[in-house]
This record gives sequence, C-alpha cells and structure tokens, in this order.
Amino acid sequence: MSNEKNLSLITSRLLALRDHVDSSYLFPTPEPSARTLIKANPFAFCAAVCLDRGTKADIIWTIPYWIQQRVGHFDPQRFYKLSLEEIRGLFDALPKKPRYINAAPITFQDITRIVVEQFSGDAEAIWKDRKASEVKETFLSVYGVGNGIANLALILIESAYGVTFSDLDHTQMDIKPDVHTTLVLYRLGVAPRVDQKDAISAARVLNPSYPAQVDTALWFIGREFCRPSNPVCFQCPMYDICPKVGIVVSRLWN
Ligand code: SF4
Repeated sequence: MSNEKNLSLITSRLLALRDHVDSSYLFPTPEPSARTLIKANPFAFCAAVCLDRGTKADIIWTIPYWIQQRVGHFDPQRFYKLSLEEIRGLFDALPKKPRYINAAPITFQDITRIVVEQFSGDAEAIWKDRKASEVKETFLSVYGVGNGIANLALILIESAYGVTFSDLDHTQMDIKPDVHTTLVLYRLGVAPRVDQKDAISAARVLNPSYPAQVDTALWFIGREFCRPSNPVCFQCPMYDICPKVGIVVSRLWN
C-alpha cells in the first residue's frame, strides 16, 4: 500500500472514530455531577482546562466540582473577591491535587480575573462570536497556559459546547500534543519520533483542512489501547493499518 493511501486510510479511520467518541468521554471524571458542572458552567470548563497540565484528566475535570462542594458555588464574580491566599486554601483542601500545586492557584486567579474584567463574568463570551485565533489568544494570556492547552480548549469548545469555528479557523487549529497523541501518531508511522512538534506536523499532514479534528480519536486510542508498555493492539481500531503493530507486539513477547 502506498504511503499516501495509508495516510488517507488513517485519516478517514480517525475521523470516523471521532464521531463515535461520546463528548462525555472528553471529560473523564468518576463523579457524574462533576461532568454535569463542566458542561453546564462555562467558567468551570475554563478553569479546568487551564489547569490541565501534567495531571490525570479525571482529577482535572473534577476540581471545579470539589471546589463547588466546598464553597457552595462556582461563580467567577465571587472567586474574584478572594485573595491569592484564600484561593490557595481552596486548592490545599482538594482531595486530589493538580501536579503544579503552587502554580495552580495563580492560574485559577488569572482566568477568574480575565473572565470578570474582560468578559463581565460571562465565560461563554470568551468564544461566543469570536474567531478561534482570538479565543486562543485569550487562553494563552492565562498564567501557565501554553499552546497545547490553548489548542485543547478550542477542540473541547467545539466538541462540548456546539460551537463551530469557520473553515479558515479550522486550518489553523492544531492538536494538543500530549503523551497519548504523540505516541499514537509515532506508532501509526505518521510522526518520525515521539515529539510534540512532530506530532503537530503529522496531524497537519493527515488532515490539513482541520488538523485538530483528529485529536479526539488519537487521544481515545492512546487512553484505551496504545499504552506505552502494553498496547492492546488486537482491540485497537487501527490494528489492520498500523505499521508498528507487529513491532510493538513482538517486543512484548521477546
Ligand atoms: S495497533 Fe497497537 S501500536 Fe498501533 S495504534 Fe493501535 S495500539 Fe498503538
């Protein structure tokens, strides 16, 4: 099979898989009420996505719920009145903490300030009637948020909030290159290394009109099947077209 044909098969398989991943899967949390809060309260979504740095997704997407349980609300206007020390107190009381525990309260205070001062307390206004590049700029202006998180925010806003950015915006939307997407793109033979820049380039090659569109399926495959040391290749939807499947499996058996 030619490389071009295989790339096209990989892309169509990933896009088909994306349509089957329930949007609730994108917010993996053991607590259903936590997911409900994320989907019903755009500020909870913004706070969680900005904290999504090197911490398990099920912890990140539950943090707003834990805070709400403690203070009885998740209202940016009320958080805006808290000092940094008071916000630190909220994070210190979490049953499970984000990895960057010193930076997380600063990030939370910063996204709160931005939502209140720039968007009158309405977090949804960050993306309402705005270009993807403007939304990304807003997320990038939050303390500790880099390109990967800003990309993820755009992907999730489309998946979970029914927003559709323009075709032109889509050409400039990249995947979030994390542990899952970088490894899967490498094993699928699209990226030459497990590397963030290579992963972004690989997704652009796969789906140039909308590179971020393949992110959800890559992330799903990474979480469910393509684990670093024990991939479940025989259950993976890419099994018949993955060039690394034999290599990975034989390493396990040797
Ligand atoms: S077939 Fe195996 S190596 Fe290939 S993407 Fe799936 S789990 Fe990963």
